[in-house]
Amino acid sequence: MNIDKCKVCASKEMKHDYHSSLCMSCLSMHNKNASDVKYHGDEGQNIPTQEKHHLRLENASNRLKILEPFLDMKNLAIVDIGCGSGEILELASEKSRYALGFDINEKLIKHNISRGRKVLNSEFSRTSLEKFTSGNCLVMISHVLEHIEFPVKFLRKIVNQLKKDDYLWIEVPCHEGSSFKSQGYNWDLWYEEHYYLFSLKFKDVILKIFELEEIVYGPRVFCAGSISLKSKVFSLIKSPINAFSFFLNHPNGTFFMDYMLKDYYYLLYRVK
Ligand SMILES: [Zn+2]
Repeated sequence: MNIDKCKVCASKEMKHDYHSSLCMSCLSMHNKNASDVKYHGDEGQNIPTQEKHHLRLENASNRLKILEPFLDMKNLAIVDIGCGSGEILELASEKSRYALGFDINEKLIKHNISRGRKVLNSEFSRTSLEKFTSGNCLVMISHVLEHIEFPVKFLRKIVNQLKKDDYLWIEVPCHEGSSFKSQGYNWDLWYEEHYYLFSLKFKDVILKIFELEEIVYGPRVFCAGSISLKSKVFSLIKSPINAFSFFLNHPNGTFFMDYMLKDYYYLLYRVK
């Protein structure tokens, strides 16, 4: 069924095809086949295998590396909302003043607690955080908003509890990179658990609604180890000029795949 009103920005200018309804204003691509998953039960993410744990740890480490130049992590409490299997918490507990996760999946909460990480079985609550630590925090919401039918409403409940000089990190999958362009609806990130693939315009929706200052944003991929050779070769063939100019500007090529594939966007804000 077509979705006639954007569930992200409320625009009624939508373009439809068999699989999706695309908002012509904020370019959020709505998955017509998305369905509600009961994340607190057995559905959703599984406890990772050793191999997956290492990939996720690498991904979490890269994520924190992006953040580090922009904030003083030692003086912040890091809050990971929808912390899943807890790799961010594992790393953040050493780098920050305090690390706390919120999740609703009992299986994963038990998994985290058995590894010594602090996770609460609830939605984000500032009051709960302040039972452990006071002061400013960095709230991270990665790979969560696309699972939620009304992501702005979800964000509002969180942002309303933030204080001046807190930080907010958001990471969402996007349809503007070569992964979606080449694979379309066959892409791994297009499936019924994802209500959306976003556009970079999502950041403007957020700025319009909330009292936030934009610090930095950019494209990301999950982590280098997880990208197939096929995808790498495809990116090079698809736009060799971009690839060439990118290597000139970033001689070690560290972030090359992030720019070429653009599987996700990250957005970092400070609360005004
Ligand atoms: Zn929209």
